[in-house]
Amino acid sequence: MENWLSKRVANTPDRIAVYYQNQSWTFAEIQTKILFFASQIQAEINSEKRIGLVLYNNLAGYLAIMAAQQLGLELVLLNRRLSAVELNDQIKDAGLQLVLTDGGYQEDLAVHKQLNFKDLPTTGLAEVEPVAEFPNDDTTSIMYTSGTTSRPKGVCQTFGNHFYSAMSSALNLGLSADDCWLVAVPIFHISGFSILMRHLIYGAAVVLEERFDAQLINQRLVDLPVTHMSVVPVMLQDMLADLQPGQHYNKHFRAMLVGGGPSKENTLREAQAHGVPVVQCYGMTETSSQVVALDPEYALDKIGSVGKPLFSVELRLGKPGSAQQQAGDVWIKTPNLTKGYLNQPHLLAEKMQAGWFQTGDYGHFDEEGFLYIDGRSGDMISSGGENIFPDEVENALADQLVRQDFAVVGQADEHWGAVPALVLTEPVDLAALLAVGRQRLAHYKLPKHFYLTASLPKTASGKIKRSAIAQNLANYKELS
Ligand code: ATP
Ligand code: MG
Repeated sequence: MENWLSKRVANTPDRIAVYYQNQSWTFAEIQTKILFFASQIQAEINSEKRIGLVLYNNLAGYLAIMAAQQLGLELVLLNRRLSAVELNDQIKDAGLQLVLTDGGYQEDLAVHKQLNFKDLPTTGLAEVEPVAEFPNDDTTSIMYTSGTTSRPKGVCQTFGNHFYSAMSSALNLGLSADDCWLVAVPIFHISGFSILMRHLIYGAAVVLEERFDAQLINQRLVDLPVTHMSVVPVMLQDMLADLQPGQHYNKHFRAMLVGGGPSKENTLREAQAHGVPVVQCYGMTETSSQVVALDPEYALDKIGSVGKPLFSVELRLGKPGSAQQQAGDVWIKTPNLTKGYLNQPHLLAEKMQAGWFQTGDYGHFDEEGFLYIDGRSGDMISSGGENIFPDEVENALADQLVRQDFAVVGQADEHWGAVPALVLTEPVDLAALLAVGRQRLAHYKLPKHFYLTASLPKTASGKIKRSAIAQNLANYKELS
């Protein structure tokens, strides 16, 4: 395909492209800035085909992504919330020689050349010749998975992956020339990065927000012509908690896309009560964003469901080659799927069968074919022949444990094989908690062991690492 930025500027040069702080730029104006930034990067490049970026959701972060793409470089999007030690692992894995960092980033990384944006040259720059094509099969971005289940894996995402992802999402949500996405999810994650790609492909404006502050974002959704926003569940929770009675988002606001992890049902109900049009989505780094989404018209009837597979996605439960199941491992087949993990050529092959990719998640369909994600297959607790998903147990106890982090994991049990254990970070009245649990859960799903610890291991994006907790139970204080 033709370079998306050039194409976009050729088609709609005067449309607003970017809002940041109190300013805005059209596509033609932003292209000028992007190409200047590209000439700054070009001056520092030797023979590298791939560079690392440490970004914030600000104008410089946006320009860095777009500029490096114009130069035809592969971008390794490093998560600045990781420790320098963790980042150094990724830098080594990706074989990076050059890492560009935002002005606000202070850590020293183990890389041949680390350059702050503010130290890029500003004079004597050669003009940039943007790449003519964004070839479908070329990797443009490399992102590491969250590391919830094991060490983060580098995922190669091609232009084709992003294009199909953008198309599938548009076919679900619809498109309009006035579309405007607020980007408060990190642009170094697929959640934020995919919005930037859609922005070029659709010609939609983006509002960049450097900091997630629920009150500020709520106000932005009132004041600016934002139509879409993507959030992870905890962001939605915080925004709803802050929403004032009578405070309504601007009348063009169409969709609050919630994904990246399971949403608590009471959060979804609260969103409905506030009239926030939630679109639940399910996806992963490997699929360059969502592959399943709940069509807004079903939001009320199908609460808790992630919806149906998007147009370019086939999805089945249970191993390919066997009969389709009502509940089972989630397998997908889609052109959004990565062409491979960086430096681990066998890993993708191990997860593939007859063209299908095993996601590692477990789900079930209702009688109308709507998908519900029950949890990660690896988190499933198999207890006396019954399957228990920690998310369901956590959901049932959530009202009682609102002000703390907690997790349900499997604990080995001689008689049952495994039983659920509850790990808390604040003491609670266990008898009262169990009384509520008994009303909502089958007996076998109730936690049988209770532990207290100061904090739970989490990924940089805030996901609780259940497998690490399950392995560490012996080190927590057991409650009775
Ligand atoms: P790693 O692969 O390194 O263990 P990760 O799977 O958490 O980390 P991501 O690619 O960021 O890394 O997350 C994708 C996963 O997030 C999905 O496989 C799924 O488990 C979970 N997820 C995403 N959306 C939803 C959703 N709507 N409901 C439940 N789970 C979701
Ligand atoms: Mg994963």
